[in-house]
Amino acid sequence: AGGRDVEIREEPVATADGRAVEVAANVGTLAELEGAVAQGADGIGLFRTEFLFLDREAPPDEDEQFEVYREALAAFPEGRVVVRTLDVGGDKPIPYLETPDADNPFLGQRGIRRSLGPDADLFETQLRALLRAAAAESGTLSVMFPMVATVPELEAALETVADVAADLESEGIEHERPELGAMIETPGAAFIAEELAERVDFLSIGTNDLTQYVMAAARENERVADLRDPCEPAVLRAIERTVAAADAGDAWVGMCGEMAGDSDLAPLLVGLGLDELSMSAVTIPEVKAAIADLETDAAEALANRATDAATRTTVYEHVNTTTDQ
Ligand code: PEP
Ligand code: MG
Repeated sequence: AGGRDVEIREEPVATADGRAVEVAANVGTLAELEGAVAQGADGIGLFRTEFLFLDREAPPDEDEQFEVYREALAAFPEGRVVVRTLDVGGDKPIPYLETPDADNPFLGQRGIRRSLGPDADLFETQLRALLRAAAAESGTLSVMFPMVATVPELEAALETVADVAADLESEGIEHERPELGAMIETPGAAFIAEELAERVDFLSIGTNDLTQYVMAAARENERVADLRDPCEPAVLRAIERTVAAADAGDAWVGMCGEMAGDSDLAPLLVGLGLDELSMSAVTIPEVKAAIADLETDAAEALANRATDAATRTTVYEHVNTTTDQ
């Protein structure tokens, strides 16, 4: 995938039979916003805010973050911007924040675990900036939490948002409650997706981490690269149950891992019932083109065959049969 010459569609896209699918961009910096707009993104589906904290000596303060989030929203006045709260640890160390899990960082204190622990102050500052930005621009701001594995973690994060809103209120500072969501990137989260979905507005599936954890195959370990495939039936079934849980809980559900940007997999992902796909901007035109060609019935039949398959090989046979038709 990537780099094929395809027409850029500025408008949101739907399948041939009219099912709307939001196609959004993953970004890490303000510089990447421009590319997202240029490639026809409907919005931002994953703003990796770690990048604001990298290559500097101290974290950005509330006002600096406010300006960045406001600018991201301003780039999509009619769209949605999904900002992920700081996801430090694992493969994302930040020099001035101590990340002591050197032996097994992917199973250590990362993402929301840090925001509810050693980085609680940073978490509050970030939420203050986000709630202020939500009120300052017309676009929809959504905020999601990385690496959720339990209901109490999610509830603690939601409570912190409520506390921050109460503080801003009492200080007379303009703010707005954003949409709130949980990332589904641990097997634990996929298994309790029903309980998570009931408590939030949306779920977003991070297939990079979900695949590494479901398959017990670390990111960046070449010796197990073969196992780290989101088309493994085990991963597809985790996705399938997450979508069903979101539907039952009246939450929308998106995907923001690399898998979402593979246009060959668009029929499978639309068939699985995802409402939104978020990817690096360069793949947006081809994914939009692939979605526009789809019939929902055929996509759903493919998703059923794929989730019933015993092996990844069979999944790919089904995917390729559909693509070649
Ligand atoms: C993911 O895990 O799939 C994801 C989107 O987040 P990141 O790649 O930043 O961990
Ligand atoms: Mg992740």
